[in-house]
Amino acid sequence: MSVNYAAGLSPFPHKGRCGMKEVHDPDEEIEVKVQQLASWIRESRHFVVITGAGISTSCGIPDFRGPQGVWTKEQRGEEVKFGVTFEEARPSQTHMALVAMERKGFLKHVISQNVDGLHLRSGFPRDRLSELHGDMFVEDCEHCHTQYIRTNIVPTMALKPTGQTCTQTKKRGNRCRGRLRDTILDWEDALPEADAVAAEENCKIADLCLCLGTSLQIVPCGNYPMLTKRNKGKIAIVNLQTTKQDRNAQLRIHAYVDTVLLKVCQELKISIPKWECPCVVVNSIHASPFREKLPKIIVDETLLERKLTWSDFDAETEIKTETVAERKSESETESSMKTEIKSETKPVKSGSPENRPPTRSIDSNEAHSQENGRVITNICKKQKLSA
Ligand SMILES: [Zn+2]
Repeated sequence: MSVNYAAGLSPFPHKGRCGMKEVHDPDEEIEVKVQQLASWIRESRHFVVITGAGISTSCGIPDFRGPQGVWTKEQRGEEVKFGVTFEEARPSQTHMALVAMERKGFLKHVISQNVDGLHLRSGFPRDRLSELHGDMFVEDCEHCHTQYIRTNIVPTMALKPTGQTCTQTKKRGNRCRGRLRDTILDWEDALPEADAVAAEENCKIADLCLCLGTSLQIVPCGNYPMLTKRNKGKIAIVNLQTTKQDRNAQLRIHAYVDTVLLKVCQELKISIPKWECPCVVVNSIHASPFREKLPKIIVDETLLERKLTWSDFDAETEIKTETVAERKSESETESSMKTEIKSETKPVKSGSPENRPPTRSIDSNEAHSQENGRVITNICKKQKLSA
């Protein structure tokens, strides 16, 4: 299937500001800003990252509002061409840098608006990842909400039945047999509750929020950095175009995200692991409160055969950083990564109207209001896709 998943969703006329001019900082300026960012990451207690389509353009997946973006081209009446399928796309340097930063204990949570599945396929742990708009490789049981992470993309979009049924066993030994649905949100769908709550909670306690490759035009995600600001935390943004939160950011880097993340990892003296094949990691080696709130997750066997061995990666890092602290948890991690996890908590249910998770929409003054520090989105308003 082509990567133009947007074509499979309902038509929607208002797609935000598209095709804005790109700005590139001079090299010397990038160096100074990267050092500042690395220093903040090193000093941070709770560092979170928000990602958008801009981190996947180097993987061959077009963004939405960049000069060659899907919506930009649509407005010009031009056809969008796609070079890769979702299955063929390889994680970028940025995806792998985030894996490394999480592994080494710097990064606590990633909030993604992308549906391309590249965070999961890069090996970023599911229990430290909020996928706000769904994932092309994930099916969800409409009865028990077990999630299945697949090797290939799911054939439907907009939360439709995929034709598969749930294979999980219920308490009395009967098969669940619930219909499986895709997880890709259409314009009016509510955000997945557990992922949205984890995103909000992490931003609220963060002292550093780094936004990568997103114009932050989609709410509620575009407002999450403000939760960090309210916590007296810093906002840093790496994006070639202007964003909705530029005026609130302490640091703006106009450069390619891959360039910046590579330099940041060099400053932090951590190696970026090489990606060789899709591999899914359910549990981080670090603690994650989100783990308890996740539904049961089943991963296709092929995705658990990891070509990259973390012991190699850590050994390499150890030489460079001359630390040994991280390696001792290796053996216990290996076993947990190869098996499915089961949450002790109940499956996520759709909430009542008053606590229903927000839907996504284009940021506008009418679209949302702030109440008790929580971003409340007008759930009646039609949604917007992408970042
Ligand atoms: Zn089920």
